[in-house]
Amino acid sequence: MYKKSISASSVLILDNKTPVDVAKAMIENGNQKEPFYLFSLDETYRRIQHFKKMMPRVQIFYAMKANDNEKMLKLAATAGLGFDCASPGEISKILKLNVSPLSIIFAVPTKTPEWMNFARESGVNHTTFDTSYELKKIKQYWPDASLLIRIKVDGESIYKLGEKFGCDFETEAIDLLEEAAALDLKVVGVAFHVGSACSSADSHIVGLRQARALFDHEAKAGRGMSIVDIGGGFMSDQTDRIDLVSKLINSTLEELFPNPEIQVIAEPGRYICDSSCTLYCSINNVRRVTREGEVVNMIYMNDGLFGTLRYNEPWHTVKLFEKEADATKNDLEKTILWGPSCDSADRVMQNVDVLLPRCTPLEWLVFNTQGAYTFGYATYFSCIEKPLIRSVISKELWNKIKDSKFFNPEEFIIDPDISSPLPSTIPPITKSTQISNSNNTLKKEEKKKI
Ligand code: PLP
Repeated sequence: MYKKSISASSVLILDNKTPVDVAKAMIENGNQKEPFYLFSLDETYRRIQHFKKMMPRVQIFYAMKANDNEKMLKLAATAGLGFDCASPGEISKILKLNVSPLSIIFAVPTKTPEWMNFARESGVNHTTFDTSYELKKIKQYWPDASLLIRIKVDGESIYKLGEKFGCDFETEAIDLLEEAAALDLKVVGVAFHVGSACSSADSHIVGLRQARALFDHEAKAGRGMSIVDIGGGFMSDQTDRIDLVSKLINSTLEELFPNPEIQVIAEPGRYICDSSCTLYCSINNVRRVTREGEVVNMIYMNDGLFGTLRYNEPWHTVKLFEKEADATKNDLEKTILWGPSCDSADRVMQNVDVLLPRCTPLEWLVFNTQGAYTFGYATYFSCIEKPLIRSVISKELWNKIKDSKFFNPEEFIIDPDISSPLPSTIPPITKSTQISNSNNTLKKEEKKKI
């Protein structure tokens, strides 16, 4: 039977094998030299289903800025999610998948006229605002938009989005609603974001209460609103925090917005994608040095701060990838992790004590929970490519989604050789980069005659 060859964009269908089995097979095969990601579509799907189960009233608009990998987007579309887009590029990427523009909220409160034109002409309807200037721009460039007023609600979060966006509920929100009405603009709802990686539900409750007050204000003025957008910020670690947070959100929604006609949406990013991706990073070199009287292992890896390892939160862990349990690897030592560039700022996990067994070059490290805000932030600094992604799906999930109009059946590989390496990211040698072997000196630039 004709067998499709595996490419970097293939999704391998796993029968009785796990993503870890795939990583192990790739590494043991020896042909995979460069760092790579394993993306488990099952884990993303599980998170989507869990979110839906915990908050059945809330429609998910996946914040694709967290991870815009095409398979991730196709899976989200297959699961019926809408999308929170924050740039024309994101909108365009979603529309190319054949998702309706009506399933998009352009959830950035400050947009250029060109961005507004692009969204309007693409058929997107919904966007947010939080200033008077933005309302004036909207009046000029997108007067028929359905608007959500973004209010500032800061929670116990690591990334405080309220420092940048959101009008003040006490002092600004009512004036902005009145100004929108005077401009004959259509405000259909209230949006807030409690900040990314938020560890408590209290701020969601504050946001919902403030949204209710603004709904009441609009109702009194004879203008109805119909959408509450509770944003993202849900933690992506392995705890069951979402179970607690969702209980509080559900009961507050019941109390404050009992009318089922009011649409409640959320824009989770990291919760959906973070746990589904694991980085396997090869070690390039190791040095043992003494720093302030202490022996430290310095490990030089093939991905780093300018690549996909920009963030190091408490839920990001690193461990040595062990082919077999090795009793000699139990002694953990202080370790510094360097990225591949020449820049001394290229050090990852700088703020935590990294403890690892003594490693040797050609061993591998494993970084868990690396699906959110990793590839998207990676730079092309020093012309170093970011790691490629190997996508895998269980046979059970593939059976569920294989008829999805968003995927092409050709993307899936049945009965794959799971040890297949990903292609190299090192550029191919072309004629102009080839140099003669016989010439063992660096070519001197020829003197130009003036
Ligand atoms: N919605 C908006 C408007 C955002 O700005 C962000 C993140 O910046 C998100 C959703 C996603 O947040 P998170 O990944 O924390 O869920």
